[in-house]
Amino acid sequence: MATPKDLFALQKIDTSLFTLRAKLHEIQRDLQEPDDLVSTKAVILKLNEALGTTGAQVKDSELQVGSLQAKLNKSTDLLYSGKIKNPKELEDIENEVKSLTGRVETVELELMEHLETQESLKSDLETNQIMLQELEADWEVKSATLRTEQQEVAVEMKGILEKRKGQAEKIDASIMGNYVKLLKAKSGLGIVKLSGSKCEGCKIGMDGGAVRQVNSNQWVNCPSCGRFLIKE
Ligand SMILES: [Zn+2]
Repeated sequence: MATPKDLFALQKIDTSLFTLRAKLHEIQRDLQEPDDLVSTKAVILKLNEALGTTGAQVKDSELQVGSLQAKLNKSTDLLYSGKIKNPKELEDIENEVKSLTGRVETVELELMEHLETQESLKSDLETNQIMLQELEADWEVKSATLRTEQQEVAVEMKGILEKRKGQAEKIDASIMGNYVKLLKAKSGLGIVKLSGSKCEGCKIGMDGGAVRQVNSNQWVNCPSCGRFLIKE
């Protein structure tokens, strides 16, 4: 026949299991990638996207400059070839050369702006990539430690669960059922010590009769909180 002492031994096992379970949850939470690592990855992704866009703009501007420059060369050559005698025609070509020169300058300016943007993005990317390397190296060490800790806790829990099984088998089914309900309802404490005449769970005192029952190792529940009691 199991005594309150046996249940109290089970309570000790359960308390250590709760602690380990909480520790495991904490480790699982800590095993999520840290915010600075996640945000640096996001920044790098955005910079790469922006570099793609700027790269296309640079290429486009270069093509435009090339095509306008070719037209300009052709018109300039024609202007100074001596082949055009008609003053009106000459004036038209002169105007075209002027207009093309202006357009080449405009597109060249645009190209320079795109190149500057590209350089600045490249430099940002490099800085962030260095940062990412450092953060990843830190995270690798930290997460490896956490995973080791996680395994250790899991192994410890396995051992304690086996111990719990053996201890729980000693307790009568009806007491066990009541205890499990109390664990859930009373913050993980189904049996507590009686301190003088006070329940250590709810700090409320009880009458001499109940105290005597507890002190003679009988099964008694605290009249206030319902927890099982064990003599101090
Ligand atoms: Zn109580």
